[in-house]
Amino acid sequence: MGYMGKILKVNLSTGKISEEPLNMNFAKMFLGGSGLACRILYDMINKDTDPLGPENPLIFMTGPLTGTIAPSCGRYVVCAKSPLTGIWGESNSGGKFGPMLKFSGFDGIIIVGRSEKPVYLSIINGSAELRSAEHLVGKNTFETQRILAEELGEKRISVACIGPAGENLVKYAAIMNDGGRAAGRTGMGAVMGSKNLKAVAVFGSQKVPLADEDKFIEVAKEAHTIVKEAFNSEMFKQLGTGAYVDLAQEMGDMPNKYFTLGVFENASKISGSTMAETILVRNRACYGCPIGCGRVVKIDEGKYKLPETDGPEYETLCAFGSLILNDNLEGLAYANYLCNIYGIDTISCGSTIAFATYLYEQGKISEGETSGIKLKWGDIDTVIQLIEMIAFRRGFGDILAEGVRRIGEKYDARDYAAEVKGLEIPFHDPRAFFGMAICYATSPRGACHLNGDVYLVDLGQEVPELGIVSGDRFEEEKKVEVAIKSQNWRTVYNSIIMCQFCNPPAEIIAKLLTYSIGQEYTVEDLDLLGERIFNLKRILNNKLGVSRKDDYLPKIVLTPLKEGGTEGRVPNIGKMLQKYYEIRKWDYKSGKPTKEKLKQLELDKLQI
Ligand code: SF4
Repeated sequence: MGYMGKILKVNLSTGKISEEPLNMNFAKMFLGGSGLACRILYDMINKDTDPLGPENPLIFMTGPLTGTIAPSCGRYVVCAKSPLTGIWGESNSGGKFGPMLKFSGFDGIIIVGRSEKPVYLSIINGSAELRSAEHLVGKNTFETQRILAEELGEKRISVACIGPAGENLVKYAAIMNDGGRAAGRTGMGAVMGSKNLKAVAVFGSQKVPLADEDKFIEVAKEAHTIVKEAFNSEMFKQLGTGAYVDLAQEMGDMPNKYFTLGVFENASKISGSTMAETILVRNRACYGCPIGCGRVVKIDEGKYKLPETDGPEYETLCAFGSLILNDNLEGLAYANYLCNIYGIDTISCGSTIAFATYLYEQGKISEGETSGIKLKWGDIDTVIQLIEMIAFRRGFGDILAEGVRRIGEKYDARDYAAEVKGLEIPFHDPRAFFGMAICYATSPRGACHLNGDVYLVDLGQEVPELGIVSGDRFEEEKKVEVAIKSQNWRTVYNSIIMCQFCNPPAEIIAKLLTYSIGQEYTVEDLDLLGERIFNLKRILNNKLGVSRKDDYLPKIVLTPLKEGGTEGRVPNIGKMLQKYYEIRKWDYKSGKPTKEKLKQLELDKLQI
């Protein structure tokens, strides 16, 4: 119960489509979402797997609450070996694609091989088919979604697709669904592009089976009420995640001028409040979400003219705002729109452009190498030009399409590349919340704010029943403990899959799972599940070559700033890592979980 009980398998090389029963033992051990996908992937990839080769599986997965009336559980996750980082890749997205996949009868899809010609996969009410996508080549993600809805004759269909960036194997290409919803991080769009798979279109009308429907509905209603009444929910509904901009600036959490400046005086010009007063049309919610943090914006005239479309959220406001010292909100919204239609992760894209600007200013990149473009802080028009060049890998865009780490290598500036394990650091500065420093250094997909969010904990988003409590944001040792607990908890979230802005008490989540799956879950059980799945991702990474040396923070975010909310502060990451390994019971030399830990988590049968 809670699961549809079937996985769709598609081999693009042979065209064979088959179904197999969901491995219930895996589901019990790893819940669903990215936990379950990781267990499946574990047996299918190794150090030699080419992320852009046919042998790299691309897995779409849902969770046991996806498609139910539990709040904010309309997400799916897509996982593979990442072409950006070469290790575990995962990215989840909202909208309604996840529920539709379940309504069509499947918990997930495993796609292997490579099609000779461009294709798309349609799954309508349990019937799956590969169809030619030659007419969709070069089409942007919005056009692709519209054409497929018309072609398949079903307006309610949900389409997850790639744009030109995915087709051109931009290393941080996104998979887009339901308008501008993005599975952005770790380059899953490039994996899809490498398979010649343009889109997956799903529609169905089956119901998700529940073990105890009456009790489930009762608890789900309670959860909705709690979530709706939370202060953050109302704030995100009114102002989007951009509501955080002013506070983030004050605390030094919002990186400015590529992590090198403590204060961006014009930040309020790109805040959620300014958006609400200027270009905002209304808010938008993913399936079953009582919060509705999504923005719909419109620009009526001028060079940034836009139809009604998805507006930028907090990370994007940083990526094309404070990080490059741009205070033009309309230009920023236009840059966001381009990333949506081309299918590009805004975090990695903004970070890469800002890094190039930083190196250009330092004289490490010359005008000859930038296709004649002058890179200047605050110049959103150049950013817009570069996004186009990245999507189509034109000129200097071809280098930028490789991401921050490769640019750091090319220009002998690795220390200044704001990345961990190859993934660009998102926009919660580790100098502002020391707990984020250890999360970034150790998170399985590289620098990640969705696998341990201590910044939110320190801002009051506590889970006291799990020991996830706030404290001095610059504290080091205690923050390691909180970070580990937060990582385990968000790992559960990413397996359920529940949106991280939705935070009912842990006990309610345990009850939702109990009445959905039909097996008793306690908060402690969830904690153990989170720890198991987190360690599973670690040993998969160990198998792919990750060791102690890959847990680090780059110099650029360990350099104290002269002003702002973090003035003079930097975390002692070496000391924090030592404590982290000790608590996690990971070997400090090899970076691998000890045998005892693996045994305790029932992972000892897996070969690292
Ligand atoms: S809070 Fe925002 S991102 Fe999360 S499910 Fe709701 S609308 Fe989607």
